[in-house]
Amino acid sequence: MTRLLHRAIRGTMPVAIGGAGITLNDADGKSYIDASGGAAVSCLGHGHPDVIAALHRQADRLAYAHTGFFTSEPAEALAERLIEDAPPGISHVYLVSGGSEAVEAALKMARQYFVEKGEPQRRHIIARRQSYHGNTLGALAAGGNELRRAQFKPLLIETHHIDPCYAYRLQKPGESDQAYAARAAQQLEDKIIELGPDQVIAFVAETVVGATAGAVPPVADYLARIRSICDRYGILLILDEVMCGMGRTGTLHACTQDGVAPDLMTLAKGLGAGYQPIGAVLLSQHIFDAFAGGSGFFQHGHTYMGHPMAAAAALAVQDVIRRDNLLANVAAIGAELDRRLQERFADHRHVGDIRGRGLFRGLELVADRATKQTFNPALKLHARVKQAAMAHGLMVYAMGGTIDGRHGDHVLLAPPFIVTRADIEVIVERLGAAIDDAIASIP
Ligand code: PLP
Repeated sequence: MTRLLHRAIRGTMPVAIGGAGITLNDADGKSYIDASGGAAVSCLGHGHPDVIAALHRQADRLAYAHTGFFTSEPAEALAERLIEDAPPGISHVYLVSGGSEAVEAALKMARQYFVEKGEPQRRHIIARRQSYHGNTLGALAAGGNELRRAQFKPLLIETHHIDPCYAYRLQKPGESDQAYAARAAQQLEDKIIELGPDQVIAFVAETVVGATAGAVPPVADYLARIRSICDRYGILLILDEVMCGMGRTGTLHACTQDGVAPDLMTLAKGLGAGYQPIGAVLLSQHIFDAFAGGSGFFQHGHTYMGHPMAAAAALAVQDVIRRDNLLANVAAIGAELDRRLQERFADHRHVGDIRGRGLFRGLELVADRATKQTFNPALKLHARVKQAAMAHGLMVYAMGGTIDGRHGDHVLLAPPFIVTRADIEVIVERLGAAIDDAIASIP
């Protein structure tokens, strides 16, 4: 009997005891290809010697110093590094311990920015229905996944949700990408006008949607339109790249591919590649200036923020990615992964959509391709796929939810950046077997 409260209380889980490269091993001697990097975390794979050596060096020097008293060398170096490669306008970095903390900090930073500027009446956050921004109360309020929010609603701050940019289900037949981008972005402008432009703080969105629908990229022009609407009404754009950022889509920041720079950006997961818990908020010069010229203090903080071990791990991860030119691999092998997924699943009667960027790819499973009818949610097809994949020695991130988080089944692949063409063959073969087994298991 376990004394650990697991995510799911019924059933047992394998015990992970080791990992090397793209593989994890359990205590029973079974090995699994980590085709989802856990939850798009392990971008360098497991047991990377350079990161382990950096952790040893940092542990020998200094494990912890409270940021109320000291800064530290690795935290300063990581901030320097993140700014070197940041989107235009970004000038500073705030280090925290994960994605939800990063989103909480970004929301509070956005609010305090307007307080510093003498606009304390601003109080509304706008986000999108198909989104996940974390499980702490502020981040959960911003997210749009009804399944995750439902029972906590009485505790959530009021947020306003518009439709996501979700071409597979919301683009009309015959509608051009341009026209769809304009229609989807218009919802933001309408919502700002409805709430009152001088009442709105920020719009929050994942550049490429991850944990609610499996790698849904925006259509061309959508984010550029969103950026200009935010500028027109003087509200902040927060891009949440906790899952899709730090190289996962083939460029360090996913929004680079859309030609858009946010005012605030959240990062985590791939930043530390799972070697340590770490997250970050990137903030732009005008936000920093408002704080520096105002109260001189961001009214926030956590005991473990800027943790030296976490910063050292993240710096080592980013060094390896740069030294080994791994983003080129993400782009090349990502294109190969897409090609193999198309070959294997384009004609599959229960795969409705294959999408994504780089090594961030999603499949949407449907009961009927013609009508895009979802499977009955009670069947929990996504959970069956995950279980069948594990039986085949494959880790995939499978999830339920389309727009509202209640219906639909998606599979997300986010393998480590070191994955090879030969690995991709095995991943796609095992995934095919897992999906077929899962569907065959439906009573
Ligand atoms: N934001 C996005 C886009 C995410 O995908 C996640 C986690 O999946 C989070 C925030 C929350 O991150 P964490 O689980 O590290 O708190």
